[in-house]
Amino acid sequence: MAIRRVDQVDLKGKRVFIRVDFNVPLSEKNEINDDTRIVSSLTTIRFVCEAGGKAILASHLGRPKGKREPRYSLAPVAERLSGLLGRNVPLAPDCVGEEVRAQIKGMKPGEVLLLENLRFHTEEEKNEESFSKALASLCDVYINDAFGAAHRAHASTEGITRHLKTVAAGFLMMKEIESLEKALICPQAPYVAILGGAKVSDKIGVIRNLMDKVTTLLIGGGMAYTFLKAKGFEVGKSLVEEDQIGLSLNLLETAEGKIKFLLPTDHLAAERKDVHAKKKFVTNDGIPEDWVCLDIGPETVQIFLEEIQSARTIFWNGPMGVFELEPFSRGTFAIAKAIAGSSAFSIVGGGDSVSAVNQAGIADQIGHISTGGGASLEFIEGRKLPGIEALRKKRGEIG
Ligand code: AMP
Repeated sequence: MAIRRVDQVDLKGKRVFIRVDFNVPLSEKNEINDDTRIVSSLTTIRFVCEAGGKAILASHLGRPKGKREPRYSLAPVAERLSGLLGRNVPLAPDCVGEEVRAQIKGMKPGEVLLLENLRFHTEEEKNEESFSKALASLCDVYINDAFGAAHRAHASTEGITRHLKTVAAGFLMMKEIESLEKALICPQAPYVAILGGAKVSDKIGVIRNLMDKVTTLLIGGGMAYTFLKAKGFEVGKSLVEEDQIGLSLNLLETAEGKIKFLLPTDHLAAERKDVHAKKKFVTNDGIPEDWVCLDIGPETVQIFLEEIQSARTIFWNGPMGVFELEPFSRGTFAIAKAIAGSSAFSIVGGGDSVSAVNQAGIADQIGHISTGGGASLEFIEGRKLPGIEALRKKRGEIG
């Protein structure tokens, strides 16, 4: 079922509730560290304003757990958004209630109002019916542009759609869905997926679902050591999830004869996880007992680069090493640069890989950078995301 998009809806004079993802990282002093999520929502917000709608924006921020905590107020976001839009965006005192309703009543078409943090109410995450109704009562049209929250069935992402006739996806949401679908439905071969990060257990679902879609799976990062241990290598003090060894072996067996499943062949090992620790390059059968492997080595980088260069579709999630520490960041940055240099359609998802791409200054050379880490992984696992399904279902109900 196709999803209706914001530009297929009559917005003129309507109160348009836009669920955005303004869950931005904040510093100790409550300053916004990275405004990518705000910037990514501007296209939809501007579109609604230009079409004569009253844009009512709602988001969560952090985990206030149902309490009204000033440090989780969306006030810094209202300020940044005002600057980006070049107009004043007032912050409502709450996200429901009479005062908010009166404020919305006073809005003129083309104006923007930001509601206060949805998670100041426990009912949001509990997806409570009465709260969903209260949110729905504030608007005529519902637009979901918060891909990063689409894997959660909350009142503002799922419940609200049950109480409104007109629901649609924003431009950011549509771009996420369409791009990620390219990684799942008829991707162009050779298709190379690169998975890294800390744990195998977090990525099992993704590996399973990609197994019959990709040509090649490249595994790096901490998760590689559980696979190497499963193959019988001694990996010293490297990260291993003992309870995942059996499952990892199963995955390796399933891959045999079906796809190329490549593990690192060499590593940058260190005496401990510290930039000043003694380091050396080691091969799989030379990992010292008391050392920890913190990055892929140059031989592995070379092997992975060759696969990336011949790919026509690339999906990347998770760093190849402890890239937060400079000495162990080379593998991750080499992969990021290779993806940028490739002519394949590339998708990068997950907070750390996105941050690596940004740090490497090559974000503009990536086909699609997903704004939702958890949501993009669940999408690639082949799971149905409640926030997206709610839009699809509604389209089915009303045609
Ligand atoms: P994830 O959130 O699962 O993508 O994991 C990201 C984290 O994995 C980062 O904080 C990295 O420091 C960590 N990581 C990557 N490679 C290793 C490694 N070889 N050993 C330990 N941690 C790693």
